[in-house]
Order: sequence, then structure tokens, then C-alpha cells
Amino acid sequence: MSINIISDLADKAFDGQRVFMRVDFNVPLDGSKITDDARIVAALPTIKHALERGASLILASHLGRPKGKANPALSLEPAAARLSELLRRDVILPDDCVGDGVRKLASELEPGQVMLLENLRFHKEEKKNDPEFAAQLAALADTYVNDAFGTSHRAHASVVGVAGRFAHARRAAGFLIQRELEFLGSALEEPKRPFVAVLGGAKVSDKIGVIRALLKKADAILVGGAMAYTLMKAQGKTVGKSLVEDERLEEARKILELVSTSRAALLLPSDHGVAESFDSAEITYTKFIGSDVAGFDIGPETVAAFSKRIANAGTVFWNGPMGVFEKAPMAVGTMSVAKALAQSKAVSIVGGGDSAAAIRVAGLRDEIDHVSTGGGASLEFVEGQELPAIAALRG
Ligand code: AMP
Repeated sequence: MSINIISDLADKAFDGQRVFMRVDFNVPLDGSKITDDARIVAALPTIKHALERGASLILASHLGRPKGKANPALSLEPAAARLSELLRRDVILPDDCVGDGVRKLASELEPGQVMLLENLRFHKEEKKNDPEFAAQLAALADTYVNDAFGTSHRAHASVVGVAGRFAHARRAAGFLIQRELEFLGSALEEPKRPFVAVLGGAKVSDKIGVIRALLKKADAILVGGAMAYTLMKAQGKTVGKSLVEDERLEEARKILELVSTSRAALLLPSDHGVAESFDSAEITYTKFIGSDVAGFDIGPETVAAFSKRIANAGTVFWNGPMGVFEKAPMAVGTMSVAKALAQSKAVSIVGGGDSAAAIRVAGLRDEIDHVSTGGGASLEFVEGQELPAIAALRG
């Protein structure tokens, strides 16, 4: 069964109806101050679409990791205040997401009114996809919309159990999820070639599945970050004190074996930014990693080789930093890859998380075709897994 997008629902689906909309307001906070409201701003088109068609809106989100208990420090109050400013209308914030008080408030909502439920994860039932909890949330509304792609790879109540309680004609994806499906789906299924994947980050273990999938789909996989060192060690190269997942060496060897019979070429770094420790103020570039140092970044020769592949690509998918990009001297490789991606004519897709942060820090957001709103979700999607929340919308 196909997925409805919010714009597919007939206007009468909204008129005077209550819409339960799962959004991603998991914003970074400094105390009670939102340091980046991008996720709230990103949800506005879907929110406004429903409001303009006469819906009353019940928004729901998680924030942080309250571990199933109410925690005032993780209240959605700052998000409600910011949303109210952006929409220029009141946003009601009850003190919970379920219960009699919430039910009463929801039943009294008028068209055009907005209520943001309190943090879903104040209840352990959310992450457990508890059917009774899902039933209570679903009973608040007539129509269901999910626009929280970042949670789509989790079988949680608000994205799976709740969706399943609405008829197909009464549930839809919002515009953010629609865009994710377009880019991660069509663009990666039938990519403009050459299709180049750039993978980085700390652990190869998180990305084994995605490497296997990309070996079949991509023309080249460029690997940086600490995950490259596990693969290099599996090749028998010296990696000094670099971060290696020794328990994954066998798996890394299997991947290397697969490369010889795969469509994709696998490129590992040929030079490295090395230092004695994570806290070293300076790094040295070298082709050979000595026993007393660790690799914390890709070197200039690797940057040049990766940049050339990116420049000549038809499609590029990037997930994971090329080094310890949180520290300026170790961020050169990651920032250079970000620039190469921004300059390339390829369809550019960035898979959330740290690489999305690097793009923003570099001020290159507008040069990238699609920056995914979900790190883990985008990886699982590229891996070819059906995400539980997307499957629930399909039904
Ligand atoms: P991940 O969560 O697997 O995407 O990894 C992201 C983290 O990997 C970032 O916090 C980086 O600092 C870290 N990282 C990337 N390259 C290295 C490296 N060569 N050594 C240690 N940590 C690294």
C-alpha cells in the first residue's frame, strides 16, 4: 500500500478535525534556552498546511532522554514558546501527553488551535510501543500525520502503534518525510552515476550493513574517520594507537573480500593527520602511522583524492566525519569534504548527525541538495531496511 502525503488528504480530512501530528522538536537546549530552532522551523510547512485547512492540531514529540520519567529539565515548554512565536498564535502545553486533562483539552480544541503535548518519553510506554499508551494517544484525534523522520527507524508508540490505529485514508506523512523518501529513496535507488558514498565516524560496526548495501549500489565508497583504521588493520597495515574495533576485524576482512567482487571501489585514506593524543594541540601529516601516535584526521593527499571523486560524481551520499571534527586542528578533512560536496555538481545528500552539523558549521547548508533530518534513520534507509514508522504509514 502506498504512503499518503499530507497534501494527498482531502481538505475535508482537516475541516474541523483534530489532527495528531508527530513532529521532531528534539532541539538542543542550554538550560531552558533553545540553541538551534532548525527542527521547529523545518516542521512549519506541515503544521501550517493542516492549520490552513481548518484542523485543530495536537503536536507530539520527544526531547532528550528522560528514561520514562517526568523531568522538568526536558519539558517541551521552550519548544512550545518558540513555536508560538513562529506561528504567532497561542500554543497550549498540558503537563502530560496522556490522561484525563489532556483528553479534555483535546476535545475542546477549536479549528486553528494548537496544543503541544508534553514530552512523550516521560512515559516508558512510548519506547516500548505499548498498545494501551498508543490507544490513548490515538483517541485524541481523527487524523494522524507523522513528520518525525529522525524517529522513523524506531518502533515507538507515537510513530508505529498510533499510526496503526488510523485508517489508511486518515494517516499521512508530512512534507519533511516526503522529501526524505524522495531523496533517500529515488535518488539512491536510481542514482545519477557515478554514485559516490563517503562514510566516516568512529565505528565501523555501526556501518557494516550500510557498507554491504553500498558495495552493490555505489561506484565508489570513500572511508575516513576512525572506522578506516579498523579496515586498514584488517588489511595488515600499521595504525599505531588509532581507534580500532578489534572485535570487528573479522567482519572488516569479510568486507574487504567482498570488494573484489563488488561494483564499488573502496578507497581508504593514504595519509593521515596524527597526534599523540586526542588533546594534542597540533597534528602532523604522514603516510605512515608510527606506533606512538594515532590518526585523528585524513591527510591532504586523501582530501585531494576524495575531493576529485566527489567533483566527478553524479550523486554523493555522505555520512560521518573524516576525523575528530569537534577539534579545529582535526577538522580540516571533514571541512574539506564538506566544501568539495558543496562545490560538486552532483546530487548531494547528507545523512544527518555529525556530517549535517559540519555542513551547518561550514555555512554550506544552501549548497547541499538534501540534508537528512535523521542520522540513524537515513543509514537504515540506505541500507535497504523498511523503517518501522514508514511501514506503519503504509499499513
Ligand atoms: P559516529 O557516531 O560513529 O558517526 O562517530 C562520530 C565521532 O567519531 C565524532 O565524535 C568524531 O570525533 C569521532 N571520530 C572521527 N574520526 C576519529 C578518529 N580518527 N579518532 C577518534 N575519533 C574519531
